[in-house]
Amino acid sequence: SIVVTGATGHLGRLVIADLLERGVAPEQIAAVVRDADKAADLAASGVQLRVAQYDDPATLKGAFAAGDRVLLISGNEVGRRIPQHTAVVDAAAEAGVALLAYTGILGGPAADFVLADEHKATEEHILASGLPYVFLRNGWYTEVYTANLPAVLEHGVVIGNAGEGRVASAARADYAAAAAAVLAGEGHENTAYDLSGDTAWSFAEYAATVAEVSGRDVAYHDVSPEERQEILVGVGVPADFAAVLVDVDRAIGRGLLAVTSGELARLIGRPTTPLRDTVAVEVRALS
Ligand code: NDP
Repeated sequence: SIVVTGATGHLGRLVIADLLERGVAPEQIAAVVRDADKAADLAASGVQLRVAQYDDPATLKGAFAAGDRVLLISGNEVGRRIPQHTAVVDAAAEAGVALLAYTGILGGPAADFVLADEHKATEEHILASGLPYVFLRNGWYTEVYTANLPAVLEHGVVIGNAGEGRVASAARADYAAAAAAVLAGEGHENTAYDLSGDTAWSFAEYAATVAEVSGRDVAYHDVSPEERQEILVGVGVPADFAAVLVDVDRAIGRGLLAVTSGELARLIGRPTTPLRDTVAVEVRALS
């Protein structure tokens, strides 16, 4: 089977939809989920459900079978992901899966910022497991930014501490299509892909794009790391996580998320979704 973990998440759902569109039979696909109720629609489409929790190694025993081609979608609980991913990799190795693909972070070992640490540790553990692997080192989803559009449109300002740093983002669906291409295709074993959008934009350009598409006044307001930390905490972001976000913008300022390798477009066989298109879809959804 082709097995997708995190299958009830945004990316996981898109990967499964893409596999089905490619003609993979639903019964050949297994969705690993922690809450079967959230996956009723997947079960109804004929996809196998395997219930497991990254935190509970006993549940992971039933998640994989010999010969499976597995996509481990990194978890969303920052700070807890090393033991969680380690447990998933160990279960996959124990089962003898044929391929383990993992959604890591753009730059891989060269990504020297806090949010990358758990991804680097996971990649090292996968290498040590000896399993055939594919590292899908994902750059930023454009939706990371458009998720804040309600506040951006309300206040007319995009706030960050990235300076003139650029982000080569792509739509989540682009990264999902790349994962599906690797899972359903051949010849990707033991490869690391640096996946990112075809075009890198600055936050000033992002603000201008939102302004143009929405017809409102929106500008980028660059602040110091200390100010940004205060602003994030002020709107209720826990201090630890605010520090991670401030650190991400510093990394963007150093150019670490601006890489335009073209590897994502090559894997999916089409250009990546332009910033403007995703902004337009999200602005329309709000109006
Ligand atoms: P989501 O938060 O939508 O999905 C995360 C998925 O992981 C969910 O299905 C969730 O299950 C599952 N999950 C989390 N913890 C566990 C656990 N302990 N046991 C079992 N399943 C678990 O994120 P996206 O789909 O948008 O993104 C996928 C991943 O990519 C994120 O988890 C994160 O690691 C990373 N990411 C990358 C970004 C980028 O810009 N490149 C931005 C944001 C995240 P459930 O549905 O039950 O909650």
